[in-house]
Amino acid sequence: MKVTEHIEAAKGKTLFSLEIIPPKKGDSIDSLFNHIDPLMEFHPPFIDVTYHREEYVYKPRRDGLLEKKTIRKRPGTVGICAAIKNKYKVDPVPHIICGGFSKEETENALIDLNFLGIDNVLVLRGDSIAGEQNFKPEPDGNAYALDLVNQVVNMNKGQYLDDDLQNAMPADFCIGVAGYPEKHFEAPNLKSDLKYLKQKIEAGAEYIVTQMFFDNSKYFEFVDKCRAEGINVPIIPGLKPIKTKGHMTVLPSIFHIDIPDDLYSAIEKCKDNKEIQEVGVEWGIQQSKELMAAGVPVLHYYSMGKSDSVYRIAKELF
Ligand code: FAD
Repeated sequence: MKVTEHIEAAKGKTLFSLEIIPPKKGDSIDSLFNHIDPLMEFHPPFIDVTYHREEYVYKPRRDGLLEKKTIRKRPGTVGICAAIKNKYKVDPVPHIICGGFSKEETENALIDLNFLGIDNVLVLRGDSIAGEQNFKPEPDGNAYALDLVNQVVNMNKGQYLDDDLQNAMPADFCIGVAGYPEKHFEAPNLKSDLKYLKQKIEAGAEYIVTQMFFDNSKYFEFVDKCRAEGINVPIIPGLKPIKTKGHMTVLPSIFHIDIPDDLYSAIEKCKDNKEIQEVGVEWGIQQSKELMAAGVPVLHYYSMGKSDSVYRIAKELF
């Protein structure tokens, strides 16, 4: 089933869902299952699986110089999606990105997903490869998420890259895209970011999942502004429980989001990460309760491979 169909079928009841990241290359999928297993108690109708592009690493050579190599540390998105569908009978939502892919490679990946009976995709541009300042699309790849939305929409109409294909099988993907209550870091302002978000929806995306935020007012204002711009699709809030002191600096620097004063002060008073996790769980519960009371369609948790805090938050609500 499609994400939008799950939302419709819930008839206004808030659903629980989560995002997971593939294990590092060489790790077993069992650690992922151990993480998902307890969360099945809350009946997620769909689970997102992130996609991780290649990275550059520099390996020392015998002559003392460094050799630049390209590796993917977390492959397996498509395989994990198939495993989730098979093991839990839950709809997986693979993330697909522009970065590192030609349009043809994207098309081939979408064909694999279609054959696996996966009918949801979260379409993203992806970030620049670590070490490069600006995002560079592949010469024959998609430059913005909008271009990738258009490619998936074309496949949904049976239009593949090869014009000579006659009567090609249409795909039937439900397309989600990303939205940023605190603005995407490259956008000059929120208005311009919303203009491009609207283009993704007009092109055929059917729902939005937000970047994490810790201040619900940022989400509510974002939703109001989207509605004022005529963006009327479901806007799913993404939430992440704080677990460590490091999150106070790492999350703002990676995800370009603010930590509210109250949360920061509460974390500063903690003796260790155990206490910080308690604060994170309590904050997550309060955030989730307020969002649920406001009637959000789904509470979507960025679990990042650890289920304990998400489990405790969900236990209070679902
Ligand atoms: P876009 O919608 O293409 O926007 C990128 C920037 O360009 C924005 O500033 C926008 O305002 C601007 N823009 C858009 N269109 C145009 C245009 N036509 N002309 C000029 N400017 C334009 N990354 C991963 O690598 N893997 C993942 O699995 C992943 N999952 C994510 C899940 C969620 C819910 C979110 C919120 C983000 C995720 N990301 C992931 C991160 C994402 O790839 C980055 O934030 C990326 O920098 C932007 O992606 P986007 O799809 O929002 O890009």
